[in-house]
Amino acid sequence: MTALSPLTPPTVSRLPNVGTTIFSVMSALAAETGAVNLGQGFPDFECDPALVDAVTAAMKEGHNQYPPMPGVPALRQAMADKMLALYGHRCDPATEITVTAGATQAILTAILAVVHPGDEVIVLEPCYDSYVPNIELVGGVVVRVALTPGSFRPDFSAIEAAITPRTRALIINSPHNPSGQVWSEADMLALQDLLAPTNILLISDEVYEHMVFDGEQHQSAARFPGLASRAFIISSFGKTYHVTGWKVGTVIAPALLMSEFRKVHQFNVFTVNTPMQHALSAYLTNPAPYRDLPAFYQRKRDLFRDGLASTRFRLLPGQGTYFQCVGIEGLTVAERELPEADFCQWLTREIGVAAIPLSAFYGNGFDQRVIRFCFAKRDDTLQAALARLAKL
Ligand code: PMP
Ligand code: GLN
Repeated sequence: MTALSPLTPPTVSRLPNVGTTIFSVMSALAAETGAVNLGQGFPDFECDPALVDAVTAAMKEGHNQYPPMPGVPALRQAMADKMLALYGHRCDPATEITVTAGATQAILTAILAVVHPGDEVIVLEPCYDSYVPNIELVGGVVVRVALTPGSFRPDFSAIEAAITPRTRALIINSPHNPSGQVWSEADMLALQDLLAPTNILLISDEVYEHMVFDGEQHQSAARFPGLASRAFIISSFGKTYHVTGWKVGTVIAPALLMSEFRKVHQFNVFTVNTPMQHALSAYLTNPAPYRDLPAFYQRKRDLFRDGLASTRFRLLPGQGTYFQCVGIEGLTVAERELPEADFCQWLTREIGVAAIPLSAFYGNGFDQRVIRFCFAKRDDTLQAALARLAKL
């Protein structure tokens, strides 16, 4: 603890209920205890060396100064081409695509751009941990709607019941962190119908768009004109290309919304690092890496699930993302069922595998006896974790 200096003026916190994120906490605990870290979501393997070479080449070619504010044109063009090829969505790279410092900045900037103090924003719990503090920072009112308990499916009548004249935006996330659930075409059509008579904007967090398994398709908001016309569609190269530390993503929105987005973007980051954008623009023109990603992660999911099947965890279904949730009912520690968060601490310290409690994704810490593992790991890492979990 740093001693408080009597010379530092007191401040009133803008985020009084926020501490260090659960992901940082569990990664630190895993490092401290030598546990296998299946907590925070990131790969423990390298990206394609060609991508690293492309960044080095871009630096050597002198791409080291500010790029244009919305991003390197070739990268925006490659993204527009991909949106058309994959989702049939035509967007103008000049006015409808901006390169961001990862999805995190894209989400915050979208909220800053369109949510006024007192506006309501609906989130579907459990949800990614940045959404609620982002809404609170702009003085918005967080309206929490639960995904259906157990299945994590969207409950459209609950969403409809939460809509008021003050609802400014709804945030959705498919494939879903933490549950791995994927919205179907019927879900997206139902959402499109629900929003059609309203002025509600959509923030569609699609960072796991290329991790959809079992032959299913990612149902991007971009596929649905009634959604695309009111949406900020958010992607992350960090997830798709195994480079979470690069923090580069994109946001796609109709020109009117994008011009408001860019007003904020130019004053919160102005631009995103240049050499990575050059490297990504060439890399993105090749569909093979993202086309092959579902098979790559489905094999890891199956390996991990097969191993978990012989442990005492209850396997939950998951069709997407690199997360696997499990139930911990009946897993007692000293004859006691621990709260999820304490169970994860115990699992890390005593069994040597870090996980994330689902309660961290709820405002009220709702505990449903479920924890999340990340399987974006080398096979030997997954095997090492499974060997430890088998002892339970
Ligand atoms: N949304 C979700 C659902 C995520 O899981 C993540 C990954 N941390 C992000 C947004 C943030 O992505 P990025 O690392 O590109 O900022
Ligand atoms: N998205 C990652 C997860 O859910 C973590 C990113 C972060 O640490 N902020 O684990």
